[in-house]
Amino acid sequence: MERKSFDLAVIGSGPGGYVAAIKASQCGLKVCLIEKGALGGVCLNVGCIPTKTLLAGAHVFHQVRHAADFGVITGPVTVDYAKMKSRKEGVVDKIKKSLEGLILANGITILRGVAEFISPQELKVKGQDNILVTAPQIIIASGSEPLDIPAFPCDHKRIFNSTSILELSSLPKTLAIIGGGYIGCEFASLFSDLGVKVTILEALPSLVMLQGKAVADALKSAFVKKGIDIQTQVKVEGIDSSGALLSVRLENKPPLSFEMVLVSVGRKVVSSSLGLERAGVLTNDKGMIVVNEKMQTTVPGIYAIGDVTGFSMLAHVASHQGIVAAANASGQFAKMHYEAVPAVIFTNPEIATVGLTLEQALEVGIQASVGKFPFQALGKAIAAMETDGFAQVVVDRKTGQILGAQVVGADAGTLIAEMALAIANELTLDCVTETIHAHPTLAEAWLEAALLAGDTPIHFPPKVKL
Ligand SMILES: Cc1cc2nc3c(=O)[nH]c(=O)nc-3n(C[C@H](O)[C@H](O)[C@H](O)COP(=O)(O)OP(=O)(O)OC[C@H]3O[C@@H](n4cnc5c(N)ncnc54)[C@H](O)[C@@H]3O)c2cc1C
Repeated sequence: MERKSFDLAVIGSGPGGYVAAIKASQCGLKVCLIEKGALGGVCLNVGCIPTKTLLAGAHVFHQVRHAADFGVITGPVTVDYAKMKSRKEGVVDKIKKSLEGLILANGITILRGVAEFISPQELKVKGQDNILVTAPQIIIASGSEPLDIPAFPCDHKRIFNSTSILELSSLPKTLAIIGGGYIGCEFASLFSDLGVKVTILEALPSLVMLQGKAVADALKSAFVKKGIDIQTQVKVEGIDSSGALLSVRLENKPPLSFEMVLVSVGRKVVSSSLGLERAGVLTNDKGMIVVNEKMQTTVPGIYAIGDVTGFSMLAHVASHQGIVAAANASGQFAKMHYEAVPAVIFTNPEIATVGLTLEQALEVGIQASVGKFPFQALGKAIAAMETDGFAQVVVDRKTGQILGAQVVGADAGTLIAEMALAIANELTLDCVTETIHAHPTLAEAWLEAALLAGDTPIHFPPKVKL
């Protein structure tokens, strides 16, 4: 087998791996990027980009259906889902081509095949390229895949996971989504907005529990308004697929019938096939690779980043970890900080959070309070008919420091960037209130929420009538 030497080898070309490879190459290292599947990983091929492309289509459908409210008269509006799907594929292909160009332009060698450790500094690559790679430093960015449950295995014809449901070319009439986390909720929003009757079956007491009560309540009421049936604290025992409809068996409840089911109950990391034992890399009981804040594993010279470490499981976290690992591998010093990780749920309405929720701040003993400003009181939101939602800041009452923020409503994902910057830089309410916010914009919601947190609202009635 041919042998090639590099300063750094990266396993996996998702948003963790390719970003790490580019950063390391910019730092002067000779880098190879090894990929067994499609360039761009889960994010580009079966995650962030395809789902957001389909959601963009659902958004247009929603807007056109409500066009008459703006005085725009249209004819009958229908969905061509096969066309939406082919647009999604076009978007993915376009980005994949640019990504390949970007990687090559950075002087990185792309190796196609499955990488496996032979020793701490050697990898065997098998596939389109068959090669032994020697590298004193290796970054593992092998990602994650859908968790399949033995009690209701996916047949990918009527019972899907988040990857196979993207291959659908026509819409079902009814769909059960098992799992009310962010991925399940995004699919619920997508299919419901396209006219599918959606039921969410969630074992926990509420949807998106990690995002705090204010957000969970807002999402629940928006979903109920859309006609989504939300069943919480239900346990799915199995699925009977012998009939024309699927019968979903529930613990202590009568079974429910659906045309299709999406199983969205979490993800498992991809680490067991890497030969980590031959390198001595330690994993926890779920297979997640143990790393420190510099993204170093237990073996000197070997780093791990992204979903395979089990932190956050978000694309931008993987990319940031990639930059940290590559900087350290290049002899610089870099550390990860997780206080200001924004998380966006691309439902309709959109949700975005960063930092602590009120509940989390109180739990750790901080005297925290919130300023919550409804979109109903924002000129821009009224003009655009986007009045559902709110922006909320969580603040340390003693110091005025902003600890967290949550926003539900139009452009939430873009709006959260201001609060991520504020929290990452330990800013206080004053920093927000002294910043001039353009009018009329949705970003004014932060100014007003910060004023409300300090009990000095301008565009909201004061607590005590003067
Ligand atoms: C439906 C869905 C929607 C999502 N939406 C969002 C979103 O909107 N925003 C967001 O931030 N995150 C989102 N995510 C999560 C995001 O996709 C992941 O957090 C991100 O892709 C993780 O990046 P990664 O680099 O760690 O790994 P991955 O993207 O999983 O890439 C890992 C790569 O490694 C390759 N690989 C694995 N083992 C080997 C091996 N032995 N040899 C060679 N190659 C190997 C794989 O083929 C894969 O290409 C979504 C996920 C899903 C499933």
